[in-house]
Amino acid sequence: MPAVLDDVTAEILALKKEREAIILAHYYQQGEIQELADVTGDSLKLARAAAAVRNPVIVFCGVVFMAETAKMLNPDKRVLVPDLQAGCSLVDSCPADKLQRYQEMLRANGRRFQTVCYINSSAAVKALSDWVVTSGNAVEVVRDRVPADYEILFVPDRHLGAYLQEVTGRSMILWDGACVVHEVFSLTDLLEMQRRYPQAKTIAHPECPKNILEHADFVGGTEAMRQFVARQAQPTTFLVATEANMIWELQRHYPQHTYLPVPGISCACNRCPHMARNTLEKVRDCLRNLAPEILWQPEFDRAREVLTRSLLQPPAPNPPAGD
Ligand code: SF4
Repeated sequence: MPAVLDDVTAEILALKKEREAIILAHYYQQGEIQELADVTGDSLKLARAAAAVRNPVIVFCGVVFMAETAKMLNPDKRVLVPDLQAGCSLVDSCPADKLQRYQEMLRANGRRFQTVCYINSSAAVKALSDWVVTSGNAVEVVRDRVPADYEILFVPDRHLGAYLQEVTGRSMILWDGACVVHEVFSLTDLLEMQRRYPQAKTIAHPECPKNILEHADFVGGTEAMRQFVARQAQPTTFLVATEANMIWELQRHYPQHTYLPVPGISCACNRCPHMARNTLEKVRDCLRNLAPEILWQPEFDRAREVLTRSLLQPPAPNPPAGD
């Protein structure tokens, strides 16, 4: 909690108490929002936290697909978002009608496959999938839960899919989507930083392209990154190839280390423009107005089943038969 409360922060805390709300914030939110949150985390940690919430109101500070996930996993709660326009380039890259047509074409060609979708996708895409994964559980689901005699159609992130293919050895049909933030890290700048800081460790998110991942000392989602940093006994310099707000979380818990953002091709650091739509004023306003709110959509019913099986339940002895 901030040592000195400004007016907006004080209002948020008062409204939070009045509404009996809990604030969940993604690691890619700016520090002042993370500082106010009851729980911070990656998509997997926040989804599991949302499923366990008892408060009547959840304020989800992230992007909309994350708030929808919280609603699907805890349907009785009111889930509020600071900005309903906070989207995601990966969600946009995979429209559900296009995916459905592609699945039908594969079936018509006799392909036997299961669809694994990254959580960064719409509810309608989740409803068309057999499994939903996050960067935190993707290896486990692909390796241990998708039956070995099925092909995998992986949507929408081609870079994460390619990484999973390499790590698990499963062959995949990859959808052609990418994250606008992770796709633009500059290899030239990374190599230059590695020359300048030869002792530094490079940590990279698997949404990055292969040319960045093959120069990383550690590849993992943001929670795995945090755990990797926590394991370093000696003060270390880290070159961080993910959304730059992650550094706030690392700095907060492990200030003995030094963190340098790997630059993007067109900017000095990488910020997600969708995550950046959320501000303290919007957090206050959504608590004040109890809006914008995530409302139940018809596709949430089927998407909830897939999410629950994929994120909350231990592996079943007989995995579901797929298409
Ligand atoms: S960082 Fe990339 S994947 Fe994450 S919300 Fe932003 S656009 Fe989507």
